[in-house]
Amino acid sequence: MKGRVIAAAALAAAAAAVSAAAPPEKPNFVVIFCDDLGYGDLGCYGSPTIATPNLDRMASEGTKFTSFMVASPVCSPSRAALLTGCYPKRIGLEDHVIFPPHRHGLNPTEVTIATMLRKAGYATACVGKWHLGHVKPFLPTDHGFDSYFGIPYSNDMMTPAPDGRKGAILMRDDKVVDPCVDQAALTPRYTEEAVKFLRANRDRPFFLYVPHTFPHVPLFTAPPFEGTSKRGLYGDVVQTLDWSVGEILKTLRELGLDERTMVLFTSDNGPWLIMNDRGGSAGPLRDGKGTTYEGGMREPCIVRWPGRVPAGRTCSGPWGSIDVLPTIARLAGVEPPADRVLDGRDASALVLGTPGAKPPREEFFYFSAFGRLDGVREGPWKLRSVGGSNELFNLETDVGERFNVATNHAELVARLAARMTAFDAELTAAARPCGKLPGAPPVGPPNRKPQETKAP
Ligand code: MG
Repeated sequence: MKGRVIAAAALAAAAAAVSAAAPPEKPNFVVIFCDDLGYGDLGCYGSPTIATPNLDRMASEGTKFTSFMVASPVCSPSRAALLTGCYPKRIGLEDHVIFPPHRHGLNPTEVTIATMLRKAGYATACVGKWHLGHVKPFLPTDHGFDSYFGIPYSNDMMTPAPDGRKGAILMRDDKVVDPCVDQAALTPRYTEEAVKFLRANRDRPFFLYVPHTFPHVPLFTAPPFEGTSKRGLYGDVVQTLDWSVGEILKTLRELGLDERTMVLFTSDNGPWLIMNDRGGSAGPLRDGKGTTYEGGMREPCIVRWPGRVPAGRTCSGPWGSIDVLPTIARLAGVEPPADRVLDGRDASALVLGTPGAKPPREEFFYFSAFGRLDGVREGPWKLRSVGGSNELFNLETDVGERFNVATNHAELVARLAARMTAFDAELTAAARPCGKLPGAPPVGPPNRKPQETKAP
């Protein structure tokens, strides 16, 4: 008996020595970022016409967030914010999206999630729509990604191919591999590429970023997805994305990586409502893409990490895309960049459902598609102050922003408006420039319309 006790003690001591010697396993991260998906476009967020069984199951196995904010209501600035943990204006990319003639992009001096994790030994890949600069040195492979496969800007930005056709270009790493890609095959090709990356890197920590091309218009899909939804082609396209998420989750399960992998699903901005049935739905939220009402900037967000992120939970604590970098840094046990200001905060306690966890921020700022500061949220209150008119909403009782209560709360309006002015001045003074090639055309939309106010 005594011998057995000693043997057991020796074994325990040996096990303790091993665990003390072996570094803790680093978790993997998969971020799936749709394009122009509305808050109301998934079954688990209330869509009655789009079937998303894989995302619904992901939500039941993880946590569904109902106040997840992106930092711009349009593509490029929103992507810049996700990858750097900064408001787009802080890094010079606040003024609308990048067009094919442009020669600027995310400054190579910025630190992305990929740069940060790659330094810590992660394998990194970007599969999908980049939209942060389509020439060197602004490409994904210049920003911490070991590899890139996808279209470098929006799928409606068609350029002429050598054979006279007009289409979207497809790139691998820094080379154009198809000047006119078959867009109906894009989501399955991205999925295949993503699955291949997961299989190849099963034995080392990885970061996989999948910024989907869709459901941005023009919409494309193919059999077996075509004609399957009750919401026309738009629904078919979202159902294709749902299938893709299912394939990624299935692969992680097969590889035995479920407990070691956090998967985050969200979108860059709200639905493009002026596209009518080719655009999505913001569900109960007001307005959509391009606006600073909730429909433009509040997104579905699901996080799944079995054993770490509570299953079947709905969390209304506000956080957002700017918090993803600091949150991943904390979960990976790496330091976020310390030599510059980040706007994002570590939201890991909220994501992991730590008892008593507070949202990572007291306030969130709403910048327009052109980088003009339109609003601020503090607790339940949101002030939109645009062109001298004030709208105050209580988002806890009025998520649809139907009741402007500004006249009932003059003091609060004045305080929030002053806070907006102060923050914008502070941010503008400390803003870092985007990257620009010599002779680059000006940043901002070509043929700017008068109502498209630039940041001051
Ligand atoms: Mg978008």
